[in-house]
Amino acid sequence: MRPVAVVGAGPYGLSTAAHLRARGLPVRVFGDPMVSWRDHMPEGMLLKSTPAASSLDCPQPGHTLADYCDAAGIRRLVTDEDIIPVETFIAYGQWFQRKLVPGLERVRVVSVERARGSGGFELKLDSGEAFEARAVVVATGLSGLAHLPPELAGPASGALGPAAPVSHVYEHHDLGRFSGKELIVVGAGQSALETAALAAEAGAQVRVVSRGRGRVAFGAPPWEQPRLRPESPFGRAWSLWALSYHADPYRFLPDPVRHHLVRRVLGPLGAWWLRDRFEGKVQVKEVQRVVSTDVSDGAPVLKVLTHGGRTEHLTADHVIAATGYRVDISAMDFLSPTLHTHLTTTRGTPCLGPGYVSSLPGLYFTGLPAASSYGPVMRFVCGTQFASPRLAKHLAAAHG
Ligand SMILES: Cc1cc2nc3c(=O)[nH]c(=O)nc-3n(C[C@H](O)[C@H](O)[C@H](O)COP(=O)(O)OP(=O)(O)OC[C@H]3O[C@@H](n4cnc5c(N)ncnc54)[C@H](O)[C@@H]3O)c2cc1C
Repeated sequence: MRPVAVVGAGPYGLSTAAHLRARGLPVRVFGDPMVSWRDHMPEGMLLKSTPAASSLDCPQPGHTLADYCDAAGIRRLVTDEDIIPVETFIAYGQWFQRKLVPGLERVRVVSVERARGSGGFELKLDSGEAFEARAVVVATGLSGLAHLPPELAGPASGALGPAAPVSHVYEHHDLGRFSGKELIVVGAGQSALETAALAAEAGAQVRVVSRGRGRVAFGAPPWEQPRLRPESPFGRAWSLWALSYHADPYRFLPDPVRHHLVRRVLGPLGAWWLRDRFEGKVQVKEVQRVVSTDVSDGAPVLKVLTHGGRTEHLTADHVIAATGYRVDISAMDFLSPTLHTHLTTTRGTPCLGPGYVSSLPGLYFTGLPAASSYGPVMRFVCGTQFASPRLAKHLAAAHG
């Protein structure tokens, strides 16, 4: 019996697999469980999302983050004031995987192609195996989507990577390497601000370079959230409530509106608990924009345009670009050229129909690549609650 293939073993792949298995479908799941969290986020990081918004959705009871805390014998993380260490979240994901996705295969999918005649897909793995799947779910998350703007990725930057003059924040786990060094972090989102605070705590001298004025800001603590607005996983606001619990109509919004909301809703803002660790410990340099990046004696030099219209050169031992992730399915090189040709896309993202199916029947996308169709909630773990049951239901009906 041909299985369903789930490509990815982060929160979305694991949650989708749990739902498909609960429907009795044969499933093969591929990937390195929780690797984005384990290797591509800083050691010592704390989650910005609250415990209520940090469980992997599944139909089997007893698998929430709080259930994991009970099973592991650690303090229950449940209220909005409980902050989740990344190490706890990784352990939770791995526990979820062992319990609900036991047959996970730690191999990479190197190609997905339409199977001839059968309506399914042919997959090749880096183990050398090839097999046919009735349907494929792409849940490859952040992998390959780190975005480095041209002014930081200029040819003068040379090779990228943690040891090069400029790197993307995705390439870092151990910020202790910057102890005693001067570091520039470009960006003003949670990832930039927390990376800066952690590096400063590790003994680096850190400057955050932020575009625009007043961009470095922190959210209100839970006890200061407005009471008269509905609760959502992201705080109290009507817009967040609608986007979190009623994401179905999102894909009917006009194209520019959908892309704008994905970028802007829940945009750059530090977590409420980060303020005290950041202010006074990290310098902030507000600029109109970064013009270009050069390298002098192996060290990066950022050319910036100040708000006064002057050009300045900022130097450091290293620059980390915390400049986010951009979905571009052309970067998903495991999808064959034929699939790329036949997929309907908008601004590099797949156009999805009901149940997260792409324009190619049997090929589904979930997580970040689904955000332009189902909204900003898909950028976060709590989006599994919305996506996974819908995707599994659609897939079971069409291919069960
Ligand atoms: C610094 C940072 C902090 C964040 N903090 C939060 C937070 O506090 N709360 C929150 O809700 N969200 C947070 N996010 C967003 C969060 O990372 C995503 O919501 C979540 O990881 C998406 O899960 P995913 O399963 O889609 O992808 P990922 O977690 O990125 O997992 C991708 C999976 O795909 C696999 N894979 C990739 N390519 C292949 C292939 N060819 N073959 C087989 N497997 C493959 C990988 O091995 C991996 O298992 C944060 C993101 C960042 C960058």
